[in-house]
Amino acid sequence: MGRHVLVLNAGSSSLKYQVVDPSSGEAPVRGIVERIGSGSARLTHTDDTGESELDLDADDHRAALAAVHDALEKSGVGASELLAVGHRVVHGGPRLTRAVLVDDAVLAEIEHVARLAPLHNPPAVDGIRSARAAYPDLPQVAAFDTAFFADLPAAAATYALDRSLAEHEQVRRYGAHGISHEYVAAEAARLLDRPGARVIVLHLGNGASAAAVRAGRPVDTSMGLTPLEGLVMGTRAGDLDPGILLHLMRHADLDLDDLEDLLHHRSGLEGMAGRHDFRDLLAAVDAGDDAARTAYDVYCHRLRKYVGAYLAVLGGADAVVFTAGIGEHVARLRADALAGLSALGLEVDPARNEADSTVPRLISPDDSPVAVLVVPTNEELAIARQAVALLG
Ligand code: ADP
Repeated sequence: MGRHVLVLNAGSSSLKYQVVDPSSGEAPVRGIVERIGSGSARLTHTDDTGESELDLDADDHRAALAAVHDALEKSGVGASELLAVGHRVVHGGPRLTRAVLVDDAVLAEIEHVARLAPLHNPPAVDGIRSARAAYPDLPQVAAFDTAFFADLPAAAATYALDRSLAEHEQVRRYGAHGISHEYVAAEAARLLDRPGARVIVLHLGNGASAAAVRAGRPVDTSMGLTPLEGLVMGTRAGDLDPGILLHLMRHADLDLDDLEDLLHHRSGLEGMAGRHDFRDLLAAVDAGDDAARTAYDVYCHRLRKYVGAYLAVLGGADAVVFTAGIGEHVARLRADALAGLSALGLEVDPARNEADSTVPRLISPDDSPVAVLVVPTNEELAIARQAVALLG
């Protein structure tokens, strides 16, 4: 049996994969199938010979994974090279609170919990089913984005709602991006050589969330019952007055499906500025687009509010850490989000911030009371390690 873990991250129309060596963290064989179900799917596969592209007739995840299976075999990665298949699952709900070996009961539970993550869990279920078909003899391990936050303190996890209704409906703060927050907070503590560090992690990708972590344990996080709460995102609004939803139902003739579509797809940067991709947003800001400018300012303002809130929740911080696509790559957002916070011990050194780098790094001055860091996230490695830990 091999020592690598095939990590799968199934989205609604995409399937990302990496063959991860959990000890070294290296993953030279990796790729993505995009536009699954569109009639023009495409596999982009990378191995040590370089990158290749293949047009596919993949109208579902099973067909996509069959193509990935073939590409992996051609790269010398057969089932015997693999220890397990690891799956990223967004929502584990109240019962799936650590990585688990998938059996029929676990799969049924992930499907059941899809009511809390209707966009995210169904493709994960498809990915797991496909992997069981393609790799019937390998253990399938599911890792959950909510698991890290399962033991949030009750004061952070509890909504101020009718208690019996909330308990009956299992309404609580579950958080998300936990695989990334746990990994990045641990890397930051290692970088600072302070295992007990108080860390504020800002995971800024298409989805975005903040977490307050002390000594590796979660203290608070911005996503809630579902991945809709908290920071401004590509297409999601984050925090809203719930009265807005009542108002729109009552006066704008929006029904449940309209609201779901609005909240998931037509809000956030997309809603405010007609662009969900941060690169497109920045280009529009630079071109003088007022709506894009406001959207950028709203994005920064919300981030700053969460940093302030989590400084209070943690009683001060040792580090603020930026990660994921936007957090890792957009120096100007990092500078703007933390501008004017030197009274709170937060400063960004312009040269360090703008330096072109892909490694974990300090971007605050050496004598700054709170370290500001950029730590590239590596959810695939974290999932591979969770799988190895589970399988012993
Ligand atoms: P996901 O949540 O899908 O994993 P990522 O972490 O890859 O997302 O982040 C995607 C976001 O990061 C997009 O908004 C993209 O525009 C932004 N992004 C990635 N690289 C850059 C870059 N070099 N400059 C600006 N934005 C970037």
